[in-house]
Amino acid sequence: MRPPSHRRFGGGSRSNQLCSGGADGRKSFHAINIPRTSAGSEERLNATQPSRAVQRVSGWFYDGQRFREGTVGWVEDVVVEIRSGRTRRPLAEGLIIPGLWNAHTHLGDAIVTQELKGTIEELVAPPHGLKHRVLAKAKDAAVIAAMRRAMATMIRTGTTGFSDFREGGLNGLKLLYAALAAMPMQGLALARPVELSYDPREVAAILRASDGIAVSSYIDWPRDGIEKLAADARRAKKIFAIHCSERVREEIDAVLDLKPAFLVHMVHATDADLERCADAHVPIVVCARSNAFFGMTPDIPRMLRHGVELHLGTDNAMINTPSLLREMEFAYRVARLKGGVPAREILEMALRGRRLADPHATSAIRVGARADLVILDLPGGRNGFASIVRASASDVRLVVSGGRLWPAPSPSVRDASMIRGRRRRITRSTQ
Ligand SMILES: [Zn+2]
Repeated sequence: MRPPSHRRFGGGSRSNQLCSGGADGRKSFHAINIPRTSAGSEERLNATQPSRAVQRVSGWFYDGQRFREGTVGWVEDVVVEIRSGRTRRPLAEGLIIPGLWNAHTHLGDAIVTQELKGTIEELVAPPHGLKHRVLAKAKDAAVIAAMRRAMATMIRTGTTGFSDFREGGLNGLKLLYAALAAMPMQGLALARPVELSYDPREVAAILRASDGIAVSSYIDWPRDGIEKLAADARRAKKIFAIHCSERVREEIDAVLDLKPAFLVHMVHATDADLERCADAHVPIVVCARSNAFFGMTPDIPRMLRHGVELHLGTDNAMINTPSLLREMEFAYRVARLKGGVPAREILEMALRGRRLADPHATSAIRVGARADLVILDLPGGRNGFASIVRASASDVRLVVSGGRLWPAPSPSVRDASMIRGRRRRITRSTQ
């Protein structure tokens, strides 16, 4: 996809604003105050800080076309070395892919933990769907903890970046940033007004503090309001994104007139709708598990036949765990029901979303790229792609996110004292 000219991410990656302290000590910058949280240390991931020495992994790495045998090295948060042959003492060995990018999440939904019954409208549609009722009543700290739990799941399953549709206006954004603080991840925060109505002051404030606007769907909004919303995002040179044709088919020309950076779902799209998306270079994020939950099957081969660029997302965190490994496996199977697509295409779908954060990013592991790597305990060589669409969380050996390692190789002194502290507490509580 050629990055639309209205989106310019100043000074490298726009999403730097969302990273918790990068390798160069960049601090998060937001136009809103991030609340301090009382989230316990057990909710934080034990990741290291980026190292100034070269760190290396060996095995089969993805060069954007195929898996090649070799070694990948990085310093701080940048890949600095790619060469054939194995290094003597790698941090990990296996199949090496770039960090996955979850192109569509609603992490706040992780607050809903009950078994779900009902239709799309009853569960997720604004303003009265179950998730909106639970989110409206939930305490801020509980929402932050739920989102952080979902982020931890993502890291453990090889996802180092995500694009979140955040509900709840400015306060919703604040909670997302609080959850992201200290997590070794990149996130694009796409927010929306609290109500399904346009208020220029609220929208201006949201745009100042976010990466853009993302709304439920065209048919949920008054036409005039959604057009103003999209125009404001465009004027601020930020992203506008929207669900489309999930429950019912929506008027594609009206939706594309909003100049979205991407659409989500398009399950009910006609061939002509898909053609229009391909012509307009608007990618579609496919969320196959979410669709299946509501009895629908996205036709991935048909979307690709029309030349649409596809991304992969896990959608509502209350419906699906935000693991792209599971999403890739499911998408591959669902695609087979409709004729099948190569496993490599499914991997690409789980990588491309990062271009929204950095238009120059590619899905190849290359020198100069951000050090986001996943090393999986899987067979490599020509069968690497087939291995990937069968992978599970237990295959993940190491995740490198902006040069930070998860899991951290060994406990630090501070961690050791925490463990001792925890033991003491346990001893006391059993007395
Ligand atoms: Zn969604």
